[in-house]
Amino acid sequence: MNRFTLTNVTTPAAALDAMRPDAEVKPLDFSWLNAKRPLAGGSDLLAEIKEGIIRPGTLVNLKTITGWSGIRPGADDALEIGATTLIADVAASDVVRAHSAALADAAEHVGSPQIRNQGTVGGNLCQRPRCWYYRHGDTQCLKKGGVSCFAKEGENKYHAVFATNAPCVMASSTNLGVALLALGGKLIVQSLAGEKAVAAEHFYRLPTAEDPYRETVLEPGEIVSGISVPESAGSRSAYMQISEKADFDWALVSAATRVKLDGAGAIENIALAMNAIAPVPWRLTRAEEFLRDKRPDIETLRAAAKEAFADARPLSQNAYKVAIAKALLVRVVQRAIGAHL
Ligand SMILES: Cc1cc2nc3c(=O)[nH]c(=O)nc-3n(C[C@H](O)[C@H](O)[C@H](O)COP(=O)(O)OP(=O)(O)OC[C@H]3O[C@@H](n4cnc5c(N)ncnc54)[C@H](O)[C@@H]3O)c2cc1C
Ligand code: SF4
Repeated sequence: MNRFTLTNVTTPAAALDAMRPDAEVKPLDFSWLNAKRPLAGGSDLLAEIKEGIIRPGTLVNLKTITGWSGIRPGADDALEIGATTLIADVAASDVVRAHSAALADAAEHVGSPQIRNQGTVGGNLCQRPRCWYYRHGDTQCLKKGGVSCFAKEGENKYHAVFATNAPCVMASSTNLGVALLALGGKLIVQSLAGEKAVAAEHFYRLPTAEDPYRETVLEPGEIVSGISVPESAGSRSAYMQISEKADFDWALVSAATRVKLDGAGAIENIALAMNAIAPVPWRLTRAEEFLRDKRPDIETLRAAAKEAFADARPLSQNAYKVAIAKALLVRVVQRAIGAHL
């Protein structure tokens, strides 16, 4: 493990000051991503450091900031959750469940009790790739400054089935990110320039040839201070996942939805998102359009699932994900509307 400075800060201003980018930092040079890192629960970051994947000189401890932890009501009946709130607290909160069941369910499915009691909301949303080439200390793939993506021609059973023409084909693994996307939520981002709200839809970014390094739009020195989930009167939400193990495991595929039915039982509005099928939490807009104004019976849901994956492009070892994802799409909508599974 390399030497680093741990800075405990108690105010957002001190955190931003400690995260201030060095003068020579350029956004497209990935070294900034690793020079100074915010530290929350450390369940992801410390593993990266121990493996020698990144060698930050400075860690800025966000958990000592006063006021960044907690679940509270926001304006217009939105739900606000601070970045350093424990995932376990989100999972156990009746307030979260009543407002946005998908978020509580997504939190409940994160890893294990130990991870949920150590990991935070901000850390979950900003976690780095689980790709085994990325996580191996001895491999230097594109995302770590190398020249190629080893997964494209190599071992790719856990990787993307959408956006597989991107230079990096990692599968996004943030449980809370996919729930927030389906719920139309926002991330509150702090920087020395001030505060801004970024829709979950725009927070995650696909890898590009110029910048395959980042998974989010966070720029040098920016930190997430919390999330905001809007109220959607009359709608219901759900999150489900399928994993190889019943517990202590990442999802092979996960799904989140928010659905509103009209008086006749047809779908008035629906947002559908899935994770572990693309480098970012992925919105299934084709299925959403297909389902609008239709009654969500089993045949219609299966047809929507077929529509959703018509343009999936699996890699050599992961076509199985498409079959799983189609079944999960049907189930998650049924769960949200309370239909028999
Ligand atoms: C065994 C195991 C199983 C896991 N299973 C799952 C799972 O099923 N689902 C899932 O989603 N995740 C899973 N994780 C991943 C992850 O560790 C946890 O989800 C956890 O929420 C991360 O939060 P943390 O506070 O520990 O983050 P940290 O490790 O402290 O940080 C993670 C990353 O986010 C950055 N960061 C932290 N907070 C902020 C912030 N406020 N603003 C900007 N950047 C920030 C850090 O610099 C770091 O790069 C698992 C991890 C392990 C070790
Ligand atoms: S999928 Fe991304 S992280 Fe994995 S080997 Fe390819 S470039 Fe690296």
